[in-house]
Amino acid sequence: MTFDGPKHERPGTATDAVHAGQPAPRPGEPVVNPIVRSSTFHWSGPGDGIDLLYSRYGNNPNQRAVAGKIAALEGTEDALALASGMAAISMTLLAGAGSGDHIVASRHLYGATHALLTDELPRRDITTTFVDPHDASAWQAALTPRTRVVLIELPTNPTLRVFPVGPARRAARSGGALLAADMTFATPINIRAAEHGVDAVIHSATKYLGGHSDLIAGVVAGSAALIARVAKMMKLYGGSIDPQAAWLLERGIRTLPVRMERHNRTALALARWFSGIEGVRQVIHPGLPAHPDHECAARLLNGYGGMVSIVLEGGGEAADRFCSHLRLAAPAPSLGGVETLVSQPRHTSHVDLSSAERHALGIPDGFVRISVGLEDLEDLKADFSAAVAAALPLATPLP
Ligand SMILES: *Cc1c(COP(=O)(O)O)cnc(C)c1O
Repeated sequence: MTFDGPKHERPGTATDAVHAGQPAPRPGEPVVNPIVRSSTFHWSGPGDGIDLLYSRYGNNPNQRAVAGKIAALEGTEDALALASGMAAISMTLLAGAGSGDHIVASRHLYGATHALLTDELPRRDITTTFVDPHDASAWQAALTPRTRVVLIELPTNPTLRVFPVGPARRAARSGGALLAADMTFATPINIRAAEHGVDAVIHSATKYLGGHSDLIAGVVAGSAALIARVAKMMKLYGGSIDPQAAWLLERGIRTLPVRMERHNRTALALARWFSGIEGVRQVIHPGLPAHPDHECAARLLNGYGGMVSIVLEGGGEAADRFCSHLRLAAPAPSLGGVETLVSQPRHTSHVDLSSAERHALGIPDGFVRISVGLEDLEDLKADFSAAVAAALPLATPLP
């Protein structure tokens, strides 16, 4: 499905977000795609002149509509929506690699992706070499004759590291491997990864694409040939998206450009503000000049994203006090919704590591990840200000 409006040139991102995947206006037809709950569709055989439609195949009208919108936003030939971000990642990896094959992956990956590569895929005789994504020569050095997929994620969670795509792309090209990228934290608004040579652009649509913390979904965008291979895995493993979730995702994506503009703006303002607050030892945001990847992020991204991490003086206890004194922002895992959420990696994504191991990864105790929502900046500042004050290490008691 394509944009059916003025033909003068390629529509802009905001126009695509609203119109791509929508039917052309016809008198009497609904303006918004209806939810089609039917699991199956009338079809008597190839003579009908259409594909067999069945909702596990990913070709229900709502599944196709949201896929068309995603392909338009990513600037790719095709796209596919699936039941979760992990379904998108696992089906893409299984489409790319089989028994005896090898994957080269960034060391900084979402926890479940890391577990998939280390615990699950070896059971299928698919092995992974992890590399430091900032070491430009590491990608090429890790290639084997059986490398079929190179996997990156950026910005990374929760330290928001950004690195150039070029070295991973050149290694993938030279080895004939697929370059896959989990771009959940960036969204197609902040970077269109396909323009940087990424073959499989993956998102947990549960986060910014859906944007309202009310659905679980994942997407993959790429060439028609790649999407056909991923769709085949999805049909076999059964990871297709429910039409209701597809419809909600399509609804969410219509406002993605305006939401991201606000997420980007408020997060940068908050990061700058936190930098001057007593009790905050470190502020981590790629938009701050102090961030180790600031220059790379400025070159690569259209916006720095809606995530800010802070490290509080006073370690884990201070972070616990901070979280329990918030009145507007709420402690909860996940990110990318309209509401501001905070989480401590030591309780969530990095709970299985020791304090020292987390420290080595740049996640000392006292680290709080903030998914900055769409609330008024002044209200967020007031909330965080009171919570930081409550978290401050207690003054030395009187003798
Ligand atoms: C949340 C997340 C995932 C997993 O997505 P689900 O929709 O929960 O399956 C994968 N990658 C990143 C970067 C995420 O933030």
